[in-house]
Amino acid sequence: MSALPSHLELVQGVVLPKPVGAHPVLDFVNTRSEWTTRGPARTEWLTSYEAFLIWNSAVGLLSPAAVFRLIEQAGGRPTEAARRLTATLDFRIDLYDVLTGRADETDGPFEAVARVIERASGRRQFVRTETPSTDALRAEGSATWELPEDLARPLDQLALLAAELLAGPEWAHVRTCPGCGWLFLDSRGRRRWCSMATCGNRAKVRAHAARTR
Ligand SMILES: [Zn+2]
Repeated sequence: MSALPSHLELVQGVVLPKPVGAHPVLDFVNTRSEWTTRGPARTEWLTSYEAFLIWNSAVGLLSPAAVFRLIEQAGGRPTEAARRLTATLDFRIDLYDVLTGRADETDGPFEAVARVIERASGRRQFVRTETPSTDALRAEGSATWELPEDLARPLDQLALLAAELLAGPEWAHVRTCPGCGWLFLDSRGRRRWCSMATCGNRAKVRAHAARTR
């Protein structure tokens, strides 16, 4: 097998981009190429619902055990799994437009993102995380919000994380790579490229070629 380019990795048999966004929501947006042209992605990494699940595990949003159970669920309900993947890819486009400010002229993408977030929020359940005892009841973190473990969970989970990002101060630090259109968090205002190894290096090579022409 030939070696993968440095920005990709093989996870459970699926080729995925290495996380460079410094935020899981931004890494989710970076699961396709060619954002800059807005054309169809030359490379789509979320090629199936199962690949989407494995991506969730790779970035730590789902445990390997949860991924295993959801892959089983998806196997029994392939039509629903396909529908969930389509909804996920639609959400990714709207979210990109909202995060990059492309949605400023029209409220369409923001409204679409907001509806997904609201639906996810309404599906949360408030559950105990420990068997209650007098101490545990008082202990911090003995109850929490949780999403049901079904095929809607991965998208819902991302939508709730996106809501936190959009409602907090981090949104102001989201930057777009001028090379490929991927997004990353740049809290210190020092990053220009998604990664020096890919876009940063390409730009350096181009600049060098221009100087020596
Ligand atoms: Zn880039």
